[in-house]
Amino acid sequence: MNLAISAVQYVEEIKNGNISVEEFVTKTLERIENVEKNLHAYISVNKNALEEAKQIDKKIKSKEKVGSLLGMPISIKDNICVKGMKTTCASKLLEDFVAPYDATTISRLKSEGAIVMGKTNLDEFAMGLTTEFSYFGPSRNPWNTSYVPGGSSGGSAVSVSANECIASLGSDTGGSVRNPASFCSVVGLKPTYGLVSRYGLVSYANSMEQIGPITKTVEDTAFLLNTISGFDPFDNTTIESERIDYRKNLDAGVEGKRIGVVSEMTGEGLDSAVAKASRRAISKFQELGAECTEISLDFVKYAVATYYVIAVTEAGSNLARYDNIRYGFDFDVEGYEFNAYIKKVRKNFGPELTRRMILGAFTPSAGYAGKYFLKALNVKNKIRSQVKQAFKKVDFLIAPTVPVLPFKLGEKIDDPLALYLLDINTIIANLSGIPAISVPYEIVNGLPVGIQLFADSMQERALLQAAYAIEQTTNLPGVPM
Ligand code: GLN
Repeated sequence: MNLAISAVQYVEEIKNGNISVEEFVTKTLERIENVEKNLHAYISVNKNALEEAKQIDKKIKSKEKVGSLLGMPISIKDNICVKGMKTTCASKLLEDFVAPYDATTISRLKSEGAIVMGKTNLDEFAMGLTTEFSYFGPSRNPWNTSYVPGGSSGGSAVSVSANECIASLGSDTGGSVRNPASFCSVVGLKPTYGLVSRYGLVSYANSMEQIGPITKTVEDTAFLLNTISGFDPFDNTTIESERIDYRKNLDAGVEGKRIGVVSEMTGEGLDSAVAKASRRAISKFQELGAECTEISLDFVKYAVATYYVIAVTEAGSNLARYDNIRYGFDFDVEGYEFNAYIKKVRKNFGPELTRRMILGAFTPSAGYAGKYFLKALNVKNKIRSQVKQAFKKVDFLIAPTVPVLPFKLGEKIDDPLALYLLDINTIIANLSGIPAISVPYEIVNGLPVGIQLFADSMQERALLQAAYAIEQTTNLPGVPM
């Protein structure tokens, strides 16, 4: 059986009765069993998956309603709550935490008949871009297991790329869906802020993050977006808007569309292989009839600093609740005075989390807030208006998703600043709330390179059309394992 099929193909196969859900899930579980020792995409696997598959088969047989996903195996980043399953955030602090409810995205997937295959690995609380900062150990890139898979939704991207599920949900605060999608040669979308509910997503920097699909094809992303998007009374940042079928007219093409090539993201600092791939993608768009012009967003140079000040400040406040009293690991409060107790508990955060919590206590503190946090918010507004201005001139912006090729495990783990700088091409979307997608574009020396497109807020349909257009010009091999 071919486990490498897309979500769209899966649905066809089930509908035509070529395979049963039980068969597909059984094979997927076998695949997981075989490759996990090398990849470590999952933190936990759903023990009821096979039972759920049988139930769905039964419903299909008796012509009951099963929803559009027909038992599709989907993996979920382990910072999104799935009722009855552990939600660890790859942290010792939540090692044994079992979610008492489903995130809205999960209840929507389930009501369309998806099967949650398991919870995927991430950098602790989604802070990082290599998945090396997981309490449970790193995930590995299926294209070359000595390399990082990107992050923080690394486990999600690995599981899709290595055919351990059909599709996945990740979260993207500064690039965490798009970065691993690019490193693992799969598609990753960060939707417009407010298009997808964050209810049931463990907050890291809630003013910037969105849950987004990671899939094998652009059409699959449209398919999942149809299911998970839309207003949610449980998340008051979601936008009330008319329902769109993102799969419709996907092949509209880019003839006459204007694409801005962001100078600050395509020049200095790019690996030459990445620069070449991005130039080739741009000429491809021209061949397809788009008009590509260079565009400067000079505030990009402040983006990394701005993003990190805001991200650590929000994290400092969001993570204050992990005091190991309401939930946590086995450690007795007895005999400690409050500060000594918290100090002891916080020692269980990993090094990256510790760094960010210290920074996040400082940036909004009395006497410094104006200098750091409030200033960052001002710059964020400037970046946003510059990006909005750009969309008066162009329909899309383009840049490589990550400035470098995937690198070796351990190579940058001791250099946090070097890692932060690699977010340069993705964070603009989070700072300005706009949607962005990473599409697999080339394989260079066995390593994937993704190309990224941005559109104005709520322009997902057009964005997916452009992504689909470029995807159709590629013919990339599947994962070599
Ligand atoms: N690398 C970025 C960070 O560490 C982005 C992470 C994310 O999008 N969750 O904050």
